[in-house]
Amino acid sequence: MNSKEHGDQRTGALQQQLVHTLDYEQLMNCMRCGFCQPACPTFQQTGLEAASPRGRIALMKAVADGLMEPDEAFKQQMDLCLGCRACEPVCPSDVKYGQLLEQTKDALFEHAEPTAGALTVRRLHKLAKPIFKRHRRLRLMSTILQAYQRSGLQRLADKGKLLRWLPAHMQTMERIMPRADSRGVVKRVGGHRFAAKGERIGTVGMFRGCIMDVLFTETNVNTVRLLTESGYDVVIPEEQSCCGALFSHSGDRDTAREFAKQNVKVFRDAKVDYIASNAGGCGAMLVEYDHLLADEADWVEPARAFAAQVKDISELLLRSKRWNHLPESAAQAEPAPQSDAARDNAVTVTYQDSCHLRNVMRAGEGPRQLLRLIPGTNFVELEGAEVCCGSAGIYNLVQPQMANDIVDSRMKAVRDTRASIILTSNPGCLLQMKIGAEREKASSSIQVMHVVDYFSEKILK
Ligand code: SF4
Ligand code: SF4
Repeated sequence: MNSKEHGDQRTGALQQQLVHTLDYEQLMNCMRCGFCQPACPTFQQTGLEAASPRGRIALMKAVADGLMEPDEAFKQQMDLCLGCRACEPVCPSDVKYGQLLEQTKDALFEHAEPTAGALTVRRLHKLAKPIFKRHRRLRLMSTILQAYQRSGLQRLADKGKLLRWLPAHMQTMERIMPRADSRGVVKRVGGHRFAAKGERIGTVGMFRGCIMDVLFTETNVNTVRLLTESGYDVVIPEEQSCCGALFSHSGDRDTAREFAKQNVKVFRDAKVDYIASNAGGCGAMLVEYDHLLADEADWVEPARAFAAQVKDISELLLRSKRWNHLPESAAQAEPAPQSDAARDNAVTVTYQDSCHLRNVMRAGEGPRQLLRLIPGTNFVELEGAEVCCGSAGIYNLVQPQMANDIVDSRMKAVRDTRASIILTSNPGCLLQMKIGAEREKASSSIQVMHVVDYFSEKILK
């Protein structure tokens, strides 16, 4: 068989899988109203129908109907989609776009052409799987990064301009990378269990994440402190694994399922009331474990129970009286009125949404409510805060041009707020906004922080 025949066979197999797996009812649910288009960052940037949610659904349906082949142009549009799911909450037909995208990515991953790029992705997945599954292996890997950052090698590489051979976006990423801490949260706080302070609300199992735990260890430490101070017993189960989002979003759903089962089992054994997430990307993956494991009879119920327990940290904090100077629930609290003098002395902060926290967990209001309660904080809403910043997992590495265009437009909106601090609820968004500040040459005047670190700095210190 020659290479053209091989290619035709692969395209045929891909089409078959798409016909078989794409949820036709969801495709038909789209009434082509276009309400989703203004919400879509790739449509905003390109103005192209094919780069909009409606256009992508039309492409999927054309393939499912056999009217077109899943060719290179089809694949490009699917790859260009950020998976931010901003199209879902605005859709009057409740089209489950995220599920359609997953089904498409799954098929594309399965039948990818054996190009150097696709083979590299497969090899990376193979290499990454055992590391992300066992946390101690990830911590071991992070010691390499830690040694590079702390031994002076990073400074030498920077001085000697040794990284010039890297693409520009990778050089920026290397510059803004936080300092790794291979100890992780458990070693930093000295254990797996911590008692609530004050009036007890319940027991929280802390989802520590993978990258989160070695690159944002301080945020995890602050998460434990905030939760215990707010009245929760905290348990950090040692055998939990990565949430699986990195694998699921690139089409490797089998690996994601394996990770999901491990987490469901580990947190069930820990007998917790809630599972706390401090990263929108991970939390969104965890709340959809019921969907991920829907075809596995033995796992349907445990996955549903697990998903129902997952909460963003802001939702948990809002249940605590510690966070509200009023006796009622902070969820109903109005922002406290501020005098002019108080407002002048307050630090001006703004908030960039995590798409997954907002569009999937539907918990985008929590961080805002808490910010309005913190004394000395002048919270200014960011215009278009709900638009994806361009991070989207590893999107900013594989689609750097689009990611840069998006973050540049986000930074313009940040300028208008005059904020000196940009807050986010997800490590990927935090890094991407740091890239935005770096590109604007504003990293010395604008700080980018995780909301948890800000809450902790303002409330606990
Ligand atoms: S808003 Fe929903 S129904 Fe309307 S075009 Fe977009 S996906 Fe289709
Ligand atoms: S997921 Fe985001 S980028 Fe993709 S179609 Fe929906 S709004 Fe556009």
